[in-house]
Amino acid sequence: MNRVIPFSNLDGPGNCYAVFLQGCNLNCHYCHNPETINKCDLCGVCVAACPTKALTFDEKSVVYNEDKCIKCDTCLSVCPINSSPKTRNTSVNDLFNDIRKRADFLSGISFSGGECTLQHKAITELFTLLKNKLPFLTRLIDTNGNIELEMLPDFVDNTDLFILDVKAFNEDEHIKLTGKSNKLILKNLNFLLTLGKLFEVRTVICPDVFTCEETVIEIAKILKGSNTKYSLTPFRPQGVRKQFLKIKTPSDSYISKLNKIKDNYL
Ligand code: SF4
Ligand code: SF4
Repeated sequence: MNRVIPFSNLDGPGNCYAVFLQGCNLNCHYCHNPETINKCDLCGVCVAACPTKALTFDEKSVVYNEDKCIKCDTCLSVCPINSSPKTRNTSVNDLFNDIRKRADFLSGISFSGGECTLQHKAITELFTLLKNKLPFLTRLIDTNGNIELEMLPDFVDNTDLFILDVKAFNEDEHIKLTGKSNKLILKNLNFLLTLGKLFEVRTVICPDVFTCEETVIEIAKILKGSNTKYSLTPFRPQGVRKQFLKIKTPSDSYISKLNKIKDNYL
């Protein structure tokens, strides 16, 4: 697990307990949390670099002492493999108990990442427990869609809503941007739409990297007539890896133009 935000109104409808899992199966140029992409291989580089000795290395794991941490992010910038020493392992029962004690103040629980579906077995176990014991909480998955959801019926059945990121409609551009084809993602888009579980589709607008108009038009055409929200988010450089900082931020007028195009097709 990368981190938990116990009360978030950005990660789903209402007030969500938001869990961010470690590990991703895409490698997007504009990723804002590149430290969530890979699992730590215990190289120890960050331990030597930490200015406050908040990290210690016991050969089996990196031990993170939050009390000593000054949040300088040096550990994230020196990590050679886009990982973080601040991740932690937890159990389904521990997560469930933490959610249960806050449940009166929550409307739902959301999982994202990294790519949370890579840990679909643990999520299915937790969501099954939540469905039985705290059924009033909405169970939401925020995914890049790069996993065959049709092959995970228990996971899909126990999830109420999905947020799906569609990075680019053109396959070649998608490969250039993320390192992988978008075939599975578009298949999942149609699958979730048919199930009526697609709460929102999101596209990061990054005109330097892909043909945004084409993506917006084609996705809006697919969503036409549904209740699914389609959100366009302008690319911002915060948190992005050094080699991708030269990507241009889109102007407000360009985003407005795309939103008008989108609304014409929805
Ligand atoms: S952010 Fe990382 S490097 Fe900085 S003090 Fe905390 S653990 Fe150490
Ligand atoms: S977080 Fe990165 S730098 Fe630190 S031990 Fe793990 S792989 Fe090495």
